[in-house]
Amino acid sequence: MDFDFSPEQRDFQAEVEAFLDAHDDPEVFDLTRENMAQIVDTPERRGFMRELGQKGWLGLTWPKEYSGSEGEGVYEYLLNEALAGRGGPQIGKGVGIIGKTLIAHGNDFLKEKFLPMILNNDVEFAVGYSEPNAGSDAASMRLKAERTEQDGKSGWLLNGQKTWTTSAHFAEWYWLGTRTDPDNKHRGITLMLVPLDQPGVTIRPIWTMGDERTNEVFIEDVFVPDEYVVGDVNSGFQYISQALDLERFTMFTFSPIKQRLDLLCDYVRNEEVDGRPLRDDPVVRGRIARLVTDAEVARVLGLRVVAESMKAEKEEGAAPPTIESSQYKLFATEFSRRLADASMDLAGPGSQLRVHTESAPMQGRAESTYRYTVIDTIGGGTSEVQKNIIARRGLGLPKNF
Ligand SMILES: Cc1cc2nc3c(=O)[nH]c(=O)nc-3n(C[C@H](O)[C@H](O)[C@H](O)COP(=O)(O)OP(=O)(O)OC[C@H]3O[C@@H](n4cnc5c(N)ncnc54)[C@H](O)[C@@H]3O)c2cc1C
Repeated sequence: MDFDFSPEQRDFQAEVEAFLDAHDDPEVFDLTRENMAQIVDTPERRGFMRELGQKGWLGLTWPKEYSGSEGEGVYEYLLNEALAGRGGPQIGKGVGIIGKTLIAHGNDFLKEKFLPMILNNDVEFAVGYSEPNAGSDAASMRLKAERTEQDGKSGWLLNGQKTWTTSAHFAEWYWLGTRTDPDNKHRGITLMLVPLDQPGVTIRPIWTMGDERTNEVFIEDVFVPDEYVVGDVNSGFQYISQALDLERFTMFTFSPIKQRLDLLCDYVRNEEVDGRPLRDDPVVRGRIARLVTDAEVARVLGLRVVAESMKAEKEEGAAPPTIESSQYKLFATEFSRRLADASMDLAGPGSQLRVHTESAPMQGRAESTYRYTVIDTIGGGTSEVQKNIIARRGLGLPKNF
């Protein structure tokens, strides 16, 4: 067993770091946005991602048939971790959720239209699953889709509301879960691609406690032609579940956690409380040793998802890393909260000073991560939902409600 990356993988890592050094622009990289740094929401960030596309780094794991390089998933992991470690935009939704689902299930029209745009980063997507009464239980979604015809085309007429749609205020396309069969909960959902900039779509902001924007979206009499339906009608929930495995992993990277841990370790090494160095306090030493050990657990749980997904790609019949993804998401995001708690405790009252305050301990990151890490335990499926997945699918325990 070897936990190290291979020489080729380390070379790739070095190439990525050199590329990031050469593109070091504060308009693109901003660690203080915490996990929301991953979205591609400004012209500068879009331009940077386009350059990444030109290098062929957006299609690292896509099949050659769709202009990808059919590389192993570990290269995408290394790239995303390097981007996240600098607070840069990441290859999440377009390449992962939308691109990979279209490759597996999309019709030729959707593949030809969207896959090249994704590889060049010429398009941004928002993902619309959650509704006011369908969050953890996403299969309860109700946004109504009814058969209709418009201008001689057959398709679907949409009416309803989504909530917590991140990116809706700058994305061009909506990856939307709709209710096409009201009598069949899990087998009555269909995925569609819908332009966001059209009459009938109203987008309103919701500001999170992490100072980032997400949205509620109202859909009124929006027509979607049949060719914009993803895969089979009423099979959407199956596609959503597959894509969520990916989201739980790719959207919650490890390197920002490590970076915050390093800030705390530096603080403990160098600061004093009441004239006594923090590093000499046995309680502090014990707490830091525990945090560093937990961080290593999170890192290795992440690597296990990479290893299992590579196995699933290569071996016919191998299971996708659903349980491993949930274990990683649960442990890493809950650990991140414990780390934020520790940073607030150890830095005392000064820890409440905000990012960009000159004298703030740990560059003000204690305060911002304390607020933001709560959100990470909710988005992409809450900690309780991850525990249910592990209990039921991993341990075979019965559903208890
Ligand atoms: C910042 C942010 C961005 C997001 N972006 C998007 C997005 O782009 N697109 C999108 O579709 N969604 C998005 N979401 C929505 C997210 O997926 C949901 O918030 C999440 O799934 C939880 O749903 P809910 O908020 O309705 O809470 P609920 O499902 O109502 O849960 C409330 C509480 O009950 C607990 N609970 C629920 N069911 C169970 C159960 N079976 N067993 C035990 N406990 C349970 C939950 O853990 C939680 O503590 C985002 C959320 C946030 C916070």
